[in-house]
Amino acid sequence: IFPIIKKAVPEAVLKLVGSGPTENIIKLSKIEGVHVTGTVQDVNPHLQDASIFICPFKSSAGIKGKVLEAMATGTPVVCTTRGSYGIDAVHGLNILIANNPNDFAENVMELLRNEELYKKLARNARTLVDKKYDWNKIAKQLDRVYADITESGFEADQGVPDTIAPDKENALSSSDMLCVRDIIEKTDKVIELSLDYRNKDGLEKTGLKPEELHIELTHSCNSRCITCDIWDYHQRNNKSASEELTLDEIKDLVNNSKRLKEIKTVVLSGGEPFLRNDIVDICVFIKEALPQASLGILTNGMKTETILNRTKDILKIFRNNSLWIGSSLDGMGDVYDKIRGVKGGFDNFARTMNRFKKELPDVRLSATFVLTPFNADQLIPCWEFADSHGLDFFAQFGVPKQPRSPETFQWKEGDFISIKNDIARIIQREISKTSDLERFS
Ligand code: SF4
Repeated sequence: IFPIIKKAVPEAVLKLVGSGPTENIIKLSKIEGVHVTGTVQDVNPHLQDASIFICPFKSSAGIKGKVLEAMATGTPVVCTTRGSYGIDAVHGLNILIANNPNDFAENVMELLRNEELYKKLARNARTLVDKKYDWNKIAKQLDRVYADITESGFEADQGVPDTIAPDKENALSSSDMLCVRDIIEKTDKVIELSLDYRNKDGLEKTGLKPEELHIELTHSCNSRCITCDIWDYHQRNNKSASEELTLDEIKDLVNNSKRLKEIKTVVLSGGEPFLRNDIVDICVFIKEALPQASLGILTNGMKTETILNRTKDILKIFRNNSLWIGSSLDGMGDVYDKIRGVKGGFDNFARTMNRFKKELPDVRLSATFVLTPFNADQLIPCWEFADSHGLDFFAQFGVPKQPRSPETFQWKEGDFISIKNDIARIIQREISKTSDLERFS
């Protein structure tokens, strides 16, 4: 990160402050512009002296007191998602979050260039710490939690009490609560209507027409997700990719169907659809045969160059606003890699999203989070990643699949309580970003 910054801002100085620097850290002081202080009596003068505080942690545990300390001094903070974990900070409002060296350096330089942003972040960071992380307030919250537990006769081995927002200091206001209830009621209504629809006797009776054509182009995939029964389909069923739908068969299917003529959306998925060498030809055909339809492509986002290059070719025939790319984000860093069964998978995914943002900023991107007991604690960090990268975010529970380990889908009751609380926090933070609650609802 520092070499990128130094190239653009030659006078930049990096101060590494703190006790017990390792040999490797001490060696860094040989680089021009890098100072290693070692143990200091008081970190505050260093924070007040700094223009920007950075925390580029790739792995860590627990809430970062050092980030809160910097925010308390009104020093703007740039950090990774991991560095901000557990802190109720919002990218662009009271912190800047980036997860790769280029983006990280760009955020630091933007702060140096943009005085308005600098002042806003400094002010809002201080306000956030005052409001939520003041020791007196935290002590009172803790007192209240103890009081709740003792008053309700709650016993330790029962897990956390089932409340939507245990953090009462930051609980939703009554009007926000109404808004949340409204969202939940509407969601229930959608589910009811879907069930009604499913119980009717097929499409003929209802007079409804299909609106979306979903084609699974291949079972081949370069991921090995623990929640998925597609990637080893060929092997388990003694099949091969050569038996999958060809372009000519797709043409036959679409050209000979009356129902599909008025389809509004075509979704291409897999496996990994970008592994099909003829994906651009398939898209050209879809545009010719169904010119009114928008196109969605679901990808795991791992093969950055292939995905970007083929999307650029597809965009020659589809306008930006009629093409969207959906992907999956089931965890950050190592958690993602373990779930996907691919080392370095998260870095590939993040690189693809960043390249889209830079090279094809008008293409709509989304990320879907598949909830399992392995990643329930990743919901908020993944939502934050999606939020800071401009991705629409969806979450759904993983559905047990026969060949996969049943443990993958074995929930404990306490898991749902924390998921419910995380969802409430996400809704709360979404609400805090909008001035138009009705529209949000
Ligand atoms: S990326 Fe999609 S198709 Fe591939 S293994 Fe994962 S869930 Fe299955």
